[in-house]
Amino acid sequence: MKKILVTGGCGFIGSEFVRQGLERNYEIIVLDKLTYAGDLRRIPKGEVKFYKGDIADRDTVRRILRRERPDYLVNFAAETHVDRSIFDPSLFLETNVKGTHTLLEAIRTYGVEKFLQVSTDEVYGEIKKGKFTEESPFLPNSPYAVSKAASDMLAKAYYRTYNLPILIVRPSNTYGPYQYPEKLIPLVIYSALKNKKIPVYGKGENVREWFYVADCAEGIFQVLEKGRIGEAYNIASGEEKKNIDVVKSILSLLEKPLSLIQFVRDRPGHDFRYALSTKKVRRELGWRAKTRFAEGLRKTVDWYLENFSWVEEKIKEERAYFRRFSKFYLSERRLRR
Ligand code: NAD
Repeated sequence: MKKILVTGGCGFIGSEFVRQGLERNYEIIVLDKLTYAGDLRRIPKGEVKFYKGDIADRDTVRRILRRERPDYLVNFAAETHVDRSIFDPSLFLETNVKGTHTLLEAIRTYGVEKFLQVSTDEVYGEIKKGKFTEESPFLPNSPYAVSKAASDMLAKAYYRTYNLPILIVRPSNTYGPYQYPEKLIPLVIYSALKNKKIPVYGKGENVREWFYVADCAEGIFQVLEKGRIGEAYNIASGEEKKNIDVVKSILSLLEKPLSLIQFVRDRPGHDFRYALSTKKVRRELGWRAKTRFAEGLRKTVDWYLENFSWVEEKIKEERAYFRRFSKFYLSERRLRR
């Protein structure tokens, strides 16, 4: 049985990966700082060894690697919300850049069979037509995307320079159960259920490639198990949707009126469209996403209906955070990524 150290395993995608890892009979160790985005309730009690700690803390990381000697390390830990990176970029550099660097340095000493860095489609910047391949240049725009690009490039550099066994995945916009309601889909579901106005950036024309979380975690397992060392793989659904159409689909599922939609000033520097070519992962690993958007969205809405108290609790925390950034926030109640 292989042992995987999952950093950020209490987050949205990391916890889905943990749950699937247990089903696949991996031994799972989680290291998570439990920031606002982390929640231990996302992972099964008693089946996972948990360390609370910071990936940017050298001593913590080295102590855990020395003690646990995992076969694989999969790094999900990150600050992930674009709006927060606009308010306060420093934490993004600390966790996403320094944290990844700290992990890479530690595995130079302690060694692992594979180190998988979870990157993002946002490293490529925006694209009006066509799709990004793994060879496309990095042109990240938000502080979040820049910090992720730096960590992706650091991982690649440690492969080239120190011959570390690195793999990289670049997933597109992911959605599904247990996503923190700062992100578009859960925020819209919450607002619609409460009959609150739904703020939509600009005219809602921005296009994202929506990717169901179970498929995302499964794609990451494919890359971890079968990917070529030193390579990066895009993983995505192939289903592009305008934000406004996503909002309308949710309103229709919940039988709520379109009049709840409120267009607000666009996010500064908002990327217009992301789209990934997944030819490489399909050709080399025979993997493709299974869940169609309509099905994934239905499952997601059902989950939020059943777990409404969890969402309400998170919304309260989210409000408290944004009150601290009230000048920016109260002037615009905006829709997120
Ligand atoms: P998330 O915000 O839900 O979870 C992040 C997790 O990392 C949380 O559990 C948090 O407590 C933990 N964490 C944060 N800082 C830490 C630190 N310094 N040390 C240890 N743990 C820390 O994120 P997510 O949406 O699950 O994203 C996971 C990864 O996938 C991230 O690297 C993100 O950049 C990438 N990604 C996300 C998406 C998406 O649409 N959600 C798309 C592409 C890529």
